[in-house]
Amino acid sequence: MKIGVLGAGQLGRMLAIAGYPLNHQFGFSGNSNDEPAALLGRMFVGDDSVESLVDFADVITYESENTDVRIVNSISQKCIVYPSEKSLFITQHRGREKALFEQLSIPCASYQMVNSEQDLIDAVRIIGLPAILKTATEGYDGKGQFLMSDASQIKAAWASMHGVASILEGFVNFKRELSLIAVRDTNNNHKYYPLVENTHHNGILRLTVAPAQAISTEVQKTAERYMQTLLDEMNHIGVLTIELFETDNGLIVNEMAPRVHNSGHWSIEGANTSQFENHIRAITGQPLGDTTPTHPFSAMINIIGNMGNTNMVLDMPNAHLHLYDKAERTDRKLGHINITANSEQELNQSIQQLHDFLPKE
Ligand code: AMP
Repeated sequence: MKIGVLGAGQLGRMLAIAGYPLNHQFGFSGNSNDEPAALLGRMFVGDDSVESLVDFADVITYESENTDVRIVNSISQKCIVYPSEKSLFITQHRGREKALFEQLSIPCASYQMVNSEQDLIDAVRIIGLPAILKTATEGYDGKGQFLMSDASQIKAAWASMHGVASILEGFVNFKRELSLIAVRDTNNNHKYYPLVENTHHNGILRLTVAPAQAISTEVQKTAERYMQTLLDEMNHIGVLTIELFETDNGLIVNEMAPRVHNSGHWSIEGANTSQFENHIRAITGQPLGDTTPTHPFSAMINIIGNMGNTNMVLDMPNAHLHLYDKAERTDRKLGHINITANSEQELNQSIQQLHDFLPKE
């Protein structure tokens, strides 16, 4: 099939790499011919890029929850779009996400929507401190967030939102950050990857360990139950990711993304079918692939800002280098390294060997 992707970043690039062995063709709409996916298919840029993509494609998908819903709505009249407008509409707004979690009895942080300084004063009174003020839309990698620990910060916190619709969330005392990736096809089949553990630095994901260690079957099943409820409620087709906090009182869902996710990149070598291939299979009506890990332990290390000594990665038998064809820039995701291991010791030694790619601290 001809698959059109709105966006041409690294996620589109890796979707195409996964889709070519299945005989699919790819087109991308983007801003320039320099984007990571540009050389992996037909690249449409300029004012009529979306129209051209629609003419090209049998099915359209998107690589960001910040995709304009109006564009997806108008494309949907002419072409199949997966995941649907409903998934996009909900997941691009933290308030709509939280309302859905509540409706479905999925535990999440307490929250209040905030549109003014007075709203924030009221919200702090209701939720208490510490709390995190976040923009309702468009936040990523920890951007657009203000951690409040004292009421004297109200003015500064609201000023930092630049007047945009925001949400105040109660601070969750978590032990670990986890995520769950799953995929649903048009015949209502679901497949789940194991819960993974994510370590962030300055709001940016640096390390994923898959599967997360010391997760009971019950916790995995609970996360899958939340996921299945969300997939079915949104009639979601394709990959969906939920980010969770593990606390002493169980799992709390933080947010979700209607797409393949950085915390699922390990699955390229670490699972029988990667998240990218499963997304492609789901949106093209092909049977979903097995999500079982290929090794007892996997990890993913992001390459952020500068490239580092990538030859060292190539020298390691159990490490796999994935670059995105991007120029070096502070805090930019340039690529990632996947590690597969047969023991915890091998995993930890390999991560240690690659410590130059991880933040110092
Ligand atoms: P987010 O953009 O919602 O993923 O938030 C970025 C990071 O901020 C998360 O990965 C957490 O480390 C932290 N964070 C977000 N929301 C909360 C919360 N309600 N309580 C505690 N930490 C949070």
